[in-house]
Amino acid sequence: MNLTDFQYDNLANDVAHLKLSIANKLIYTVGKDPVTAQPQDWLQATALAVRDRLVERWMKTTRAQYKQDVKRVYYLSMEFLIGRTFTNALLALDIYQNVQQALTEMDVDFDQLVDLEHDAALGNGGLGRLAACFLDSMATLGLSGFGYGIRYDYGMFKQQIIDGHQVEVPDYWLTGGNPWEFPRPEVQYRVRFGGRLEQDGETVRWLDTQDVLATAYDTIIPGYATETTNTLRLWSAKASSEINLSAFNQGNYMAAVEDKNHSENVSRVLYPDDSTLSGRELRLRQEYFFCAASLQDLIHRYLRTHSSFDQLPDHVAIHLNDTHPVLAIPELMRLLVDEHHVKWPQAWALTQKVFSYTNHTLMQEALETWPVDLLGRVLPRHLHIIFDINAGFIANITATFGADIALMRRVSLIDEQGERRVRMAYLAVVASHKINGVSALHSELMKQSIFADFAKVFPDRFNNKTNGVTPRRWLSQANPSLSRLIDDRIGRDWRRHLEQLSGLKDIAGDAVFGAQFRAAKLANKVRLTNWVATNLGLALDPASLFDVQIKRIHEYKRQLLNVLHVITRYNRILANPDADWVPRTVVFAGKAASAYHMAKQTIKLINDVAVTINNDARLKDQLKVVFIPNYSVSLAEIIIPAADLSEQISTAGTEASGTGNMKFALNGALTIGTLDGANVEMRDSVGADNIFIFGNTTHEVDALRTHGYQPRLIYEHNAELKLVLDQLRDGVFSPSDKGRFQPICDTLLNWGDHYLLLADYASYVATQDQVDELYRQPDEWTRKAILNVAGMGIFSSDRTIAEYAGQIWHAAPIKL
Ligand SMILES: *Cc1c(COP(=O)(O)O)cnc(C)c1O
Repeated sequence: MNLTDFQYDNLANDVAHLKLSIANKLIYTVGKDPVTAQPQDWLQATALAVRDRLVERWMKTTRAQYKQDVKRVYYLSMEFLIGRTFTNALLALDIYQNVQQALTEMDVDFDQLVDLEHDAALGNGGLGRLAACFLDSMATLGLSGFGYGIRYDYGMFKQQIIDGHQVEVPDYWLTGGNPWEFPRPEVQYRVRFGGRLEQDGETVRWLDTQDVLATAYDTIIPGYATETTNTLRLWSAKASSEINLSAFNQGNYMAAVEDKNHSENVSRVLYPDDSTLSGRELRLRQEYFFCAASLQDLIHRYLRTHSSFDQLPDHVAIHLNDTHPVLAIPELMRLLVDEHHVKWPQAWALTQKVFSYTNHTLMQEALETWPVDLLGRVLPRHLHIIFDINAGFIANITATFGADIALMRRVSLIDEQGERRVRMAYLAVVASHKINGVSALHSELMKQSIFADFAKVFPDRFNNKTNGVTPRRWLSQANPSLSRLIDDRIGRDWRRHLEQLSGLKDIAGDAVFGAQFRAAKLANKVRLTNWVATNLGLALDPASLFDVQIKRIHEYKRQLLNVLHVITRYNRILANPDADWVPRTVVFAGKAASAYHMAKQTIKLINDVAVTINNDARLKDQLKVVFIPNYSVSLAEIIIPAADLSEQISTAGTEASGTGNMKFALNGALTIGTLDGANVEMRDSVGADNIFIFGNTTHEVDALRTHGYQPRLIYEHNAELKLVLDQLRDGVFSPSDKGRFQPICDTLLNWGDHYLLLADYASYVATQDQVDELYRQPDEWTRKAILNVAGMGIFSSDRTIAEYAGQIWHAAPIKL
């Protein structure tokens, strides 16, 4: 029998069939009686029934990929912050309503099931969420996109707030199983560490290694309104030898499992830090672990249909999401040269055609470098290859630019100052045919700062790809109220063609549409208010202005500037309690890296300020502050649609792009922000009249820093600011520990205020006054909010991915 003609079920999607599928899964797979099954069992059963429908599309896609021998795009990322999958899958399959009805008819509470699903939080923040949006867009555009990453046992920690402090709790997200993944125990690769090298002429052998096995887990990535269905393959570590039985039999239980545990630690936890170099050896091992497995896997796939490597660049693109996967470069060289006996020059030419790299930050402390000693011990062959790449590169530089020693020292892949270190970003630049930043501003600054020399050496490699977000999750799924309204006016196709939102421009001033738009916003604010009442026991007023800053807690993102404004407002209201204030609710959420003391103190400060303000009856509820614990994708989906005002207030030049900013504007919030990252392009797109821009620009920030910035002078000349900082210093918000926030004041006044909060304070507060003024004019506010939604079309990750596909990957969609 020719199995390609074999007909499988072709599962039907009407309510009756869905009910049967769900009941069958519950009984035969989950093994539960419908009479006694718990919500968790129903979720499992429903997810499996839905998954079957995705599998049909998945097989079809995979067959087409082989048959058409398409170019595959491999997206290597240490993080994929996917969130929940259930609702997303229902919307992709267009069976949301039918599944809802099927469950209702079986007396199962659909909403309860949705809330039971655990977030897949295999990422820290923006970088990991971008990877998730990109997978969604690659599938939706019909590209053969594969995600490769690590299946961490413990994803991002769970944040509890205890007495105002962040407390980190492990997040074991796999309890109860993960119905969306397929374990592939047969897909297994050996990943080697340590050992020694033996050279024999041109041949290098890597011997006596300690090995770990990488096993694959596949997650289906559905495209929207297309049958294209892609794969996210995550690697889990497995010891290459089982427990030591003789030690076990001698009663030496710890020793018996020690090696096994040690090996399997490689995929145990996500590093809870997305912005500083963590110099830990385990992190290096994690990076190599997933690169080595992914590269072996993709080479294996390529060789199924090709007998030489000549066409590798026509069929394989490997994209490096930041520098964490840069070891894939020497790993490809190693595989080609050592294992497949390709000559070095050809291998290097292929490597440069295959790789591309996205830079995500200009901040020095976030640029990865690894000590040569450490790399030599953990990955001796790779260090050797990096030295050889460097020698070739420096020789080319000399041939082109002459023996410019200073230039050589600056661009060398090895930093020779102090402890010798490998500069991973430079390795990425030298080995990639394209290097992109993530917003127009960031891409420019990247060429002027960290890669200035390289931009002269390789001018054609540098380009910009402004980030985007998937409209499926960030509007359709998160904001059904607004989505329905938009559907009524411009149809449903914006989910796939977000630029169609511009059709709302003409009706931005329409009174009826404006009223409906306001009603949708209010419904979302009520939804959040209910969530906060239920989960935090705090009463919010949905009529107040919801002013929201949710993102990782970091000094450069300046949550502290927001707090300074909140305290200023508090003081103003107290000074004049009977004036006509615009009531505000200031919402914060975000996690701090566990070792980042200043960020954790900021969380404590927000919570202390909240306690003081929320319990001060003199304010008559005109100001409320809430810190929502455990920020996650699922929380973002509730909070963002409820926002009136989006806080995007990083020091100009520090936020590479931001994607939170895009999600808010897409959901009809107005932005208050600096000219930083993608805020600049958002202003161009929604119109300068429809966004609140304040503060120093990148140039002005540079000038301030070069000409000797003196925050203390600003403090002494601004009475309101002085009062706020004196209150912090004197313990007004920390009566039980008056010195608690002294270090925060010191940072601003005595230690240079590196992020220039005081320089932007007056401008920020004045702009917040303009926000109030506009909020007093609901029609005008609404008109501008609608113009924000209407202007957000280009910030779809579909646009971003189409640009990557056309200009970097040269990959075309498959035909189904
Ligand atoms: C979008 C998103 C981010 C990124 O937010 P920024 O404001 O761009 O830093 C981080 N975490 C989650 C859960 C997100 O959804």
